[in-house]
Amino acid sequence: MTAIETDTGATTATAVDPYGPPADEMKWLDIARELAPSFAATAAELDERAELPLDNLRAIQESGLDTAPLGKEFGGGGMSYRTFGPVLAEITKACPATGCIWLMHAGAATTLTSLSPQPVAEFYANEWLGGKRFANALSEPTSGNLFLVPLQSAEPTDGGWVLDGAKRFVSGCEIADHLLVNALVDGAPSFFGTEADETVTPIPIWDTMGMRATRSQLLSFEGSLLRTERRCRAPEPGDQNLIGLGLPWLSLGIARAAYDALVSHAQQRVIPSIDAPLSHMQWVQFDVAEAAVSIRSAEGLAARTMWLADQRSPEAMSAAIDAKLLANQVAKSVAELGVRIGGASGYLRTSSIQRHFRDAQAGGLMAYSVELCRDWIGKSELGVE
Ligand SMILES: Cc1cc2nc3c(=O)[nH]c(=O)nc-3n(C[C@H](O)[C@H](O)[C@H](O)COP(=O)(O)OP(=O)(O)OC[C@H]3O[C@@H](n4cnc5c(N)ncnc54)[C@H](O)[C@@H]3O)c2cc1C
Repeated sequence: MTAIETDTGATTATAVDPYGPPADEMKWLDIARELAPSFAATAAELDERAELPLDNLRAIQESGLDTAPLGKEFGGGGMSYRTFGPVLAEITKACPATGCIWLMHAGAATTLTSLSPQPVAEFYANEWLGGKRFANALSEPTSGNLFLVPLQSAEPTDGGWVLDGAKRFVSGCEIADHLLVNALVDGAPSFFGTEADETVTPIPIWDTMGMRATRSQLLSFEGSLLRTERRCRAPEPGDQNLIGLGLPWLSLGIARAAYDALVSHAQQRVIPSIDAPLSHMQWVQFDVAEAAVSIRSAEGLAARTMWLADQRSPEAMSAAIDAKLLANQVAKSVAELGVRIGGASGYLRTSSIQRHFRDAQAGGLMAYSVELCRDWIGKSELGVE
């Protein structure tokens, strides 16, 4: 069973889409839709100033949505992956930086609660429930896209290992209390939970073309202790990764925002030579049809991936690579269509069209990049090792 929105905005159960949010979880989607207008109202301003969306993150926390992805066994909402995806897309459509920081925060926190030994898992669950913030410090200046294969080693010390080095592009790191960090331990990649204490310093490198309000800075680690008891177990087949599953939805949220902006412009901009809005031109109709169907296809693939994840299927993570590749490409091509339909009006800084175009580039750069996804899928299809 799933649910659809009625004319009055209320939700009603239907049996049409097994890959969509279960009916009893529609409340989470309703909350995201209630929050979205105020997020959308400040997105351009925050982007311009590259300022963290603190009010939005607070509102997510106060609404109860923040810990909805935490398992019920820990006192969380136990939200399914099928609901998490559309909720994330709704938030991202309104404010992409808020969506990105929330995904990284919830992703780091779910990894630490699911892969840490007890009582550490319980500790992280309580920190999350208590409003503490998490960030993912995985990418290294050297390892780039292969962020799960760190090149920096942590050296043995009393009580664990010590890390000297740097992680970069850590979304929301300036407000994080806890970090999910990885390093080589005895030559093997290992994940740890660690505090963002005085040994960890943000270096302000984040002055980007898009996703500016994520403030994904470089973090310097100087003698940071990675404690033995905070070491995560290795992921096993069937373990799901919220960030990998969520990344397609980040691009889908941006694609939807870009699509809405271009449709609105096409409906309003009157072209004197035909004495009608742009929407009456055939090339616009054809391209909008392609854009609409490509978004629906990418949403379908991403929704099926979330269903696989809810089944604890070992196939979910490879399905997420397919879904990410398609969603990243769709977001970029829809945003580019927006620039064509927008003309010079859409090129103005005051237009949201140019912002969507800038934001749409990020998904394909974020690990695993479009090129890496294509490399893996292509090799697998062709039977190349
Ligand atoms: C908005 C945003 C938010 C982010 N947030 C976080 C975060 O919270 N935490 C975090 O840890 N990281 C984060 N990242 C980092 C991200 O996940 C990637 O690790 C990072 O973008 C890789 O950048 P790079 O410059 O090192 O790319 P590189 O890996 O140097 O890639 C450069 C080019 O080489 C290509 N390439 C690289 N390796 C291969 C290969 N093996 N085969 C084929 N082509 C290849 C890439 O596709 C790309 O075209 C974020 C990035 C962005 C843009």
